[in-house]
Amino acid sequence: MKLYSTRNINEISTPKDAIIKGLTNDGGLYCPKIEDIMANSFDIKDLLKNDYKTTAKQVFKTFFDDFTDIEIDDCINSAYNNENFDVTKSSIDNFANIKTSNLNITPISKIGNNYLMELYHGPTSAFKDVALTILPHFLTTAYKSKNENKKVYILTATSGDTGKAALSGFKDVENTSITVFYPTDGVSNIQKLQMQTSEGNNVSVIAIKGNFDDCQRLVKEIYVDESIKKICIENNVVLSSANSINIGRLVPQIVYYIQTYIDLVNSNEIKLNEKINFIVPTGNFGDILAGYLAKLLGTPIDKLICASNDNKVLTDFINTGKYNKNRELIKTISPSMDILISSNLERLLFLLSDNDDKLINQLMSSLSNSGEYTISENLLNKVKEHFVAYYATEDECRKGIKQAFENDKRLIDTHTSVAYCCLKKHLIGFNEYVSHDVCGNVKINKNDALDEKYVILSTASPYKFTRDVLKCITNENIDNLGDFECIDKLYKLTNEPIPKNLLALKDKKVRFSTVFSYDECKEYVVNNIKNNI
Ligand SMILES: *Cc1c(COP(=O)(O)O)cnc(C)c1O
Repeated sequence: MKLYSTRNINEISTPKDAIIKGLTNDGGLYCPKIEDIMANSFDIKDLLKNDYKTTAKQVFKTFFDDFTDIEIDDCINSAYNNENFDVTKSSIDNFANIKTSNLNITPISKIGNNYLMELYHGPTSAFKDVALTILPHFLTTAYKSKNENKKVYILTATSGDTGKAALSGFKDVENTSITVFYPTDGVSNIQKLQMQTSEGNNVSVIAIKGNFDDCQRLVKEIYVDESIKKICIENNVVLSSANSINIGRLVPQIVYYIQTYIDLVNSNEIKLNEKINFIVPTGNFGDILAGYLAKLLGTPIDKLICASNDNKVLTDFINTGKYNKNRELIKTISPSMDILISSNLERLLFLLSDNDDKLINQLMSSLSNSGEYTISENLLNKVKEHFVAYYATEDECRKGIKQAFENDKRLIDTHTSVAYCCLKKHLIGFNEYVSHDVCGNVKINKNDALDEKYVILSTASPYKFTRDVLKCITNENIDNLGDFECIDKLYKLTNEPIPKNLLALKDKKVRFSTVFSYDECKEYVVNNIKNNI
């Protein structure tokens, strides 16, 4: 499948090259044309016997058609195995009515009348593991077939979870080096400790004095900088990215939407071809965009519900058509969603505008010049055909955790709670934009909404955000407890299994504690390239 720059459809790449490069030369993102995706759509009834790996293979063969069958099998088997994904001890034991297909690394369970897609059973306990356990294998496979002798230097911006998942995935991978940038005050303690204690001879971690948007801008700026490009060539280095701007990150996330549908049909929870809805806690718009791609491929999906925290740029955009990042970034207890520039929205607009690269160019330069853009009513209606958006305040998010625990007997993390709250809003027909009559045509019919099935994407283990989660469900003062004491206490209160990787952190040494300014980060990267990293 050919991949095009969203900002210039004359810049075309093979999947392998796009995975190696990450970002296009002009700062756009690699994306297939919408008609090419739809030409590969399937009939879901032909997939009902699929287990997770079979579905994964089908999706990868569709998008990455320059990989051989054997290459794809090798990548899948190296990534999606019992060593990386610990689903045996998952809470699904309590919800045995849902039959999870063989080797499903993202099992589904019930939460009240709805479903939870458990995406956090990977090596770093967040959904990013699904893509970041396999991306290094795609990348090295692609690289081998090029027969070049360059070093691949992976620069990664993180709002907390991508960083550790990428560090773990690329640890000691031949011919690669990775540097992760995280906002120094913008991640949870456990997330920070996970990154600072990373092992491997080819990894480094830098805290940046700034927020996630600064981290992302840094990576993108380095990437398009002509003088740095030259230094790379002189030193035999190619830059790449492990962020969801890399198409190799995005495509693996399509698989679990399809597999969830298959599992729900096979467990008689839904009828074949019945449309279902997914609620996705959203930051950079990667996860939810993968849901849209699953829909384009033929998965019977009605709405993709975009759930934001107080940083509700996307809620505003989907309801009004105006994207406006000119606002203060608010620090929340769901830090992986504290983002004002959602990169993957660029891909959605490219697809929905029938690959209109000129339009995307206009919108994106408006975003970088004035911090905002507005799309046409026609394009907005297309967005609304597939997406609904809500946000949850901090207070609502905290109450959501308590409610889910007390009413539904489920322990959810702060990000999942944002989605949980947004589903509630959807079901009661709450929409501040509708009630303010900004755009009357998205009114939700309460009864219709209640008849349909809803799947919440649960994106992280509650133990990654232990202190905040614990605070929500206990009335005791826990300010004096250390992070690991919080973990113990949360376990005693809930019996929710603690992921092994988080327990192991206790005995690990901090290796990386550097804090740099934006400019120092750039300098650091350039020096690394000059020293062949
Ligand atoms: C990254 C992340 C999100 C947001 O996903 P996007 O693909 O950036 O929209 C939500 N929850 C958690 C726990 C995350 O790590």
